[in-house]
Order: sequence, then C-alpha cells, then structure tokens
Amino acid sequence: MRSRQEYIEVEGIPVEVVRKRIKHLNLRVYPPDGRVRLAAPLRTDEATVRWMVSSRLEWIRRQRARLMGRPRPGIPTMLPGETHYFLGRPYKLDIRENCRRQGVKLNGDSILELHTRGTAHTTQRVALLQDWYRQQMQALLPELITKWEPVIGMRVAECRIKKMKTRWGSCNIAAHRIWLNLELIKRPVLSLEYVLMHEMTHLLERYHNAHFYALMDGFMPDWRQHRAALDQTTPSV
Ligand SMILES: [Zn+2]
Repeated sequence: MRSRQEYIEVEGIPVEVVRKRIKHLNLRVYPPDGRVRLAAPLRTDEATVRWMVSSRLEWIRRQRARLMGRPRPGIPTMLPGETHYFLGRPYKLDIRENCRRQGVKLNGDSILELHTRGTAHTTQRVALLQDWYRQQMQALLPELITKWEPVIGMRVAECRIKKMKTRWGSCNIAAHRIWLNLELIKRPVLSLEYVLMHEMTHLLERYHNAHFYALMDGFMPDWRQHRAALDQTTPSV
C-alpha cells in the first residue's frame, strides 16, 4: 500500500500523519508513550489534517494522560520531609512554626524551610510557598528576557506569570506579551528558557510550521531535549 508520512505539531503535540489509500481519517494514540498518529486519505490537505487534530485535542490529551500513566499532580501534604522542587532541584520541606516573619528560606541545597507565624494550615502553607515561587520566578525573568531579546531580535513588552493547567506558556503576538506557567520555576532553568524562547519565537512566526522550527533550531539547537523533559509531565507549550 502506497503511503506518505510526515510530522506536524498541533498545540505542542507532535502528530505523525500517514497518507494512504483509505476512505476516512483515523486518529489514534498509542501506548506506551502516547504517540499520536493520524491516518488520512491520500488527497487530504494540511488544513483538514490540522482541523481534525485540533477538534480532538481534549480527547488526545486525555488519552495521552491515561497512556503515559503519569500521576495527576495531587494536593501536597505540606508536611515536613515532603519533596518540593525549585529550579529542577529537589528540596525537603522543613516547617518552622511561630516565626516572627513568614516566608520561605533555602537552607543549603537540600532543605526548603517554610517559616510560619503560629501554626499554619495546609492551604496557608501552600499559599506561602506559591507566593515564594512567584517572587523567585519574577526575579529571574528580567535577566532571561534580556539574554534572549538580542538572540531573537524582538522585544518583550511584558512577561507575566500564571498558573495554567494545560499550557507551559503563551504569547500575545500583537501586544508582545508572554505568559509563562508558574510551574516552570520548579523545573531546570533551561526548561524555563526553552518555553520563553519558544514563545518569543512566536513574535517572528505565529504557527508551529517548518519556519518556526528552523528559527528555534538556530536560537537553541538542543531545544528538543528541553521540550522532551517538559513533555514528561502536565501541560504543553
Ligand atoms: Zn507555540
């Protein structure tokens, strides 16, 4: 059977497209790694292929989540000894109660101290840690943007941080505004930089097409490696 194969990407999900002598589009997600494959009749054009994938994104994401058996991020216990990540490094949580000042302090390279006034509930502890993550990421972003602007050749008007369930980042091209997922502060800085670079590349090219990938290859030759590290977990770019 004659068939042609190509790869496209839709909303951060790589899709293998195989055109062959069949009558109907057939979309499947394969174990164990959630590989997505779309079989299409020979003469199906790219717009139809993209529409088919886009219209079933939620289904694809659910299938991938199930197949990859990745644990759904649970609610943290915030009990002493629990592991929390910061810039890709694991830290053991230490709770210090009845402190004068509340907040987070790193103790060496393996302990994350959470200082609370009195005794704090789990939700208060979570909130304190989130605030700290946000401050750390806010403090880190300006230097990363300054580093990447001359590489990409575009200015970022604004970079904001947001908790997002399904995306690592997004870009408002007209406003030169980038949103990054707060989760990225838990990842290695190169993963964060990959997402920033990816979103900044959208200032030059809106779509995930060959031009876009060629630009990213030029800006960060090993970007695939950093994306793969992110793909092992929740959202996509
Ligand atoms: Zn993108």
